Amino acid sequence: MEEIPLWYSLAVFFVLGACVGSFYNVIVYRMPRGISLINPPSHCPLCKKHIPLYYNLPIVGWLILRGKSACCKQPISIIYPIGESLCGLLGALSLYAAMGFTTDFWSPVPNLEVWADALALFWLLLGIYPVSAVDFKYKLIPDSISVGGIVAGLIISLIPGGLTPVQSIVGAVAAGGGLYLLGFIASKVLHKDAMGFGDVKLLAGFGAIMGVTRAVEVLVVASILGILIMVPYAKIAEKRAAKKAVQSKASQNKNASASAEADDEGAGQIPFGPFLAVAAPFMYLWGDALKEIYLKFIFGE
Ligand SMILES: [Zn+2]
Repeated sequence: MEEIPLWYSLAVFFVLGACVGSFYNVIVYRMPRGISLINPPSHCPLCKKHIPLYYNLPIVGWLILRGKSACCKQPISIIYPIGESLCGLLGALSLYAAMGFTTDFWSPVPNLEVWADALALFWLLLGIYPVSAVDFKYKLIPDSISVGGIVAGLIISLIPGGLTPVQSIVGAVAAGGGLYLLGFIASKVLHKDAMGFGDVKLLAGFGAIMGVTRAVEVLVVASILGILIMVPYAKIAEKRAAKKAVQSKASQNKNASASAEADDEGAGQIPFGPFLAVAAPFMYLWGDALKEIYLKFIFGE
């Protein structure tokens, strides 16, 4: 391990990230169509022919085929290799950030703590993708991401140098439990469900990966981000709904008015998962720096 230069390890992380991206492509295609992720194995959606493994290689497969399927020469969207490349870059970025953005690409990764950081960031950065997409579209956070985060945190804590396994477990229980309690109190006070259980599990995962203090900081930053973005967004959505209602009144169309009301209801629902997912890697990397700036700002030192 000592002899491997950083550039090589970065390349490996890029490939791992691209493989995750390739898997996401499969999920995005199959889930809405109700096809199992494993069975049937990779096949052409048009002529149903089996696709050999080497054409399924992320990015490379698309380049070899020059964007056309081998079996029936149908064009394959360039979105697929672009998504895989982006995931690859995020994968490499997780190690590069853990190394403190060094310019020395020939030295090896110095210690286990950096590897633990890199793996934690890998999970956080490549988790943003599915959480944001799924939560925005379906208003839910998949268990594979939230509960998976708890498992990932516990596994990473076994690597000496970062969080200890005990800190990881305490982080998961305290962060998840705390948010659950907060949601419970809010729902009693507001008389409506204020917090999804998906958010609770997601934050528990962050607690397992970065400890309870950092997880709470993620919650605070995500809330601020959420307010900054969602309040203007809700205003715009409200205006649009009002406009629609006026239009439908003008045309005396009962159906249009009903649909405008339905839209209005949807505007009140705010997915919180994406904000948690965006805040997490940022705070993992720059939480201390941000706190320092904040304290300086408050105390003017
Ligand atoms: Zn085909």
